[in-house]
Amino acid sequence: MVNLCGCGEIAKCRTSWTQLNPVRRFIGCPNFMDPTRNCNYFIWVDGPLPNRWYQATMYQIHVNLVNAQDQIAQANNQNSRTAFYNRVLIVLIVGMLLVRLM
Ligand SMILES: [Zn+2]
Repeated sequence: MVNLCGCGEIAKCRTSWTQLNPVRRFIGCPNFMDPTRNCNYFIWVDGPLPNRWYQATMYQIHVNLVNAQDQIAQANNQNSRTAFYNRVLIVLIVGMLLVRLM
């Protein structure tokens, strides 16, 4: 089923990760945040979360996941930088050995 909003765009199903409505799906206009379009097409797909504990727990799990993904990205950057410096070091050492052998 395709949902068209007031401005004729295809409103897609996305998931809210706000503190009040974590892991709650909604269908919304892609221009929802654009004040010049003034389209407020928005429908919840899922009902409200059953209680505050569930809400807080799902939000915290999401925050932990985002933080873990950031840490993995930082570690990957660090690893690729270290690998680059290791290669430079190997080239320098091999170069110095070759100069000594000549
Ligand atoms: Zn719209």
